[in-house]
Amino acid sequence: MRLEKRVALVTGGSSGIGRGIALELAAEGAAVAVADVREEPKRGKYHERDPSTPTAEQIVQAGGRALHLPCDVSDEAQVRAAIEATVDRLGGLDILVNNAGILIPGTSQEISPADWRAVLGVDLHAVFYATRSAVPHLKKSRAGRIINIASVQSFGGGGGPAYAAAKGGALNLTRDSALELAPFGITVNAICPGYIETPIQDYLSEEQIEACRRRTPLPRFGLPRDVARAAVFLASDDAEWITGVALPVDGGWLAGF
Ligand code: NDP
Repeated sequence: MRLEKRVALVTGGSSGIGRGIALELAAEGAAVAVADVREEPKRGKYHERDPSTPTAEQIVQAGGRALHLPCDVSDEAQVRAAIEATVDRLGGLDILVNNAGILIPGTSQEISPADWRAVLGVDLHAVFYATRSAVPHLKKSRAGRIINIASVQSFGGGGGPAYAAAKGGALNLTRDSALELAPFGITVNAICPGYIETPIQDYLSEEQIEACRRRTPLPRFGLPRDVARAAVFLASDDAEWITGVALPVDGGWLAGF
């Protein structure tokens, strides 16, 4: 097991990619705090349609250590409280995974300023809030890691103005944090997923999903575990000299650019 004696906090860890990451980190021996607005995994229209056991409960049933922390990551005080609770109850913090994200579709004429603020709040501001609160604890770790879940949309338009702006910002924040925290041996990297089968895709029509399928070179869509295995690598000692990178996990989506 590659992550024994490590403590991780995964935002948005109740559903989709975050759930996949939390389960894989735990399978590698990490104790995991799942910080999410919900505890029950979200059921999607196209993907993850069956009910499943809450993430922390599933980890504990498998013999691991985990807890669920109710947390709206767009609220700085709640993020700080979740990080303090992780340190108090699990004994420290080694790995922060900023995964929680939302997508509100629509053009600049369709989405409202409130929608813009909501997307920026979860997909960008929360990354800063969690990083800021986690750093004092990560400095005490012998292998501090921050892993930000960005997107292929970090590199270009798509997904609407707020999502593209937030994901571009999250990637550049990753690079800035990598430079700031390198002297402390803390690595900061981004994973940039392509189409992953999760409930976030509910806003798409079947025709739009088919267009994504045609655009993905590999013959299947991604699954949460594809992103999770990349996260385990970045969290592990194997990646101790990798920082400030954007790792696409996209079935080749970006290869044509
Ligand atoms: P899901 O919607 O499947 O899961 C996201 C989880 O985060 C849900 O449990 C959700 O709860 C929770 N959440 C939403 N808002 C907040 C909040 N304010 N505070 C705490 N938790 C919150 O999304 P994915 O797993 O697909 O996405 C995870 C990350 O991956 C996101 O950052 C997304 O942008 C990114 N990504 C996903 C891709 C994909 O194809 N799936 C592609 C590229 C990037 P609730 O359901 O109640 O809102």
